[in-house]
Amino acid sequence: MTIRGGYQPHILRVDLTKQTVTKEPLPGESVLRQFVGGTGLGLYYLLKEAPMDVKATDPRAPLMFMTGPLAGTPAPSSNWVNACKRWKVTPKPSYNCKIGCAYDVQMTDGPLAGYVCSFCGGGENTEGAAAMIGVDNPSYAMMLTDYYDDIGVEAGTFGSVVGMAFEAYNRGWITKTDTGGLALTWGNWEAAMALIQQMLRREGFGAKLAEGLKLAPRILGDEKRLLNEFRKITVHVKGAGVNIHDWRPWWGTLFGQIIAGTGPSHQGLSSDNRPNDEVGYPQLTPGVVDTLEEALKKVDSVRMTQFCKLWWDSLGICWFAVSGVTHGLTSTAQAVRHTVGWDDYTNEEAMAVGERIVNMMRLVYVKRGFQKTEEFDMGPRFLEPAPAGPAKEKTLAPYLGPMVDEYYRQMGWEVATGRPTPTGLRRLGLSALA
Ligand code: SF4
Repeated sequence: MTIRGGYQPHILRVDLTKQTVTKEPLPGESVLRQFVGGTGLGLYYLLKEAPMDVKATDPRAPLMFMTGPLAGTPAPSSNWVNACKRWKVTPKPSYNCKIGCAYDVQMTDGPLAGYVCSFCGGGENTEGAAAMIGVDNPSYAMMLTDYYDDIGVEAGTFGSVVGMAFEAYNRGWITKTDTGGLALTWGNWEAAMALIQQMLRREGFGAKLAEGLKLAPRILGDEKRLLNEFRKITVHVKGAGVNIHDWRPWWGTLFGQIIAGTGPSHQGLSSDNRPNDEVGYPQLTPGVVDTLEEALKKVDSVRMTQFCKLWWDSLGICWFAVSGVTHGLTSTAQAVRHTVGWDDYTNEEAMAVGERIVNMMRLVYVKRGFQKTEEFDMGPRFLEPAPAGPAKEKTLAPYLGPMVDEYYRQMGWEVATGRPTPTGLRRLGLSALA
């Protein structure tokens, strides 16, 4: 079989230490068909080559820019445009995208009149940058979000550390003496910006917060002899920040965030949030349930939506263009058939790419010393009942352990350890990467 399109023949390898740039051929077609591109092919290289004892920012750690076979083609898109009457909004869609979730906003009134912010995607950035610290003035919330983007920090993680400090201040656990004079009162966006500068420079109080979502509450908690209290107010999963939607009324989606192979992220949204008839879940399901049996039923829908999402992530297209779109799986498998020339490429093969990616992410975990207890390493707030709505007085907590076991079982992983088994890896053609 010959590849007709979708791939350029080379990978470019840049070695900053040796100051060399070399071209090397793409892997063979059988490898491409298994891993396709994007997240899939990136993980293939990561597992083959990257030392597993390095931090992401270490000089030895590779930084990969990996696209997929549908990038630059007329791949599926849609026609959704968001408009705002108060400010001047100019859509700035990406190449070949009719959705246009990227846009500029020019403030037309108030003290920030004339200021232009650039945004992309949903409200997650603003939730992390502004809502977490009580900034409810829209102009300042937008400006703060733009500031996060400009300095290149991720709002879910960074915002959750800053939010933890604000909450501790407002509870009286820390004072201006601790913060070097900064008044971290709810909504004080100027103090937040000053604090972020301290964090970036690792100066003053900000240096403690710069240690991140796992270490910062420990440092402050030890200092104040309030370790449990600081841990309780810190929102994280496995030390990373979530997109700050409150997922407590969608247990399938919350479980998908907890179990995702990259720290909390949109991988398995489940039928609670994103039904998908092509993966067996055509109807929206209730997010909160009353029995273990109903909770366990969510697990397969998390897996199936996770496989589908990760298939899309291997293609070089934007998830917004396919998620929730009728025939999003079939049309992308078809697009790969047309683009690459794999005329017999099926939906099942596409879903197997997603399953392979989930297993490869788990192999990265395992090679870095993952223990099952770490599956449950998260801020306790995820497991508190919500104050109102469908999750009022209800929590995922009693079901989480059995759901994790069931997920392992369905993945064919060892239930006691969360590790993929040789048999499962062989079935997916991953034995050589283990
Ligand atoms: S490609 Fe995706 S992120 Fe970019 S503008 Fe379109 S919908 Fe938004």
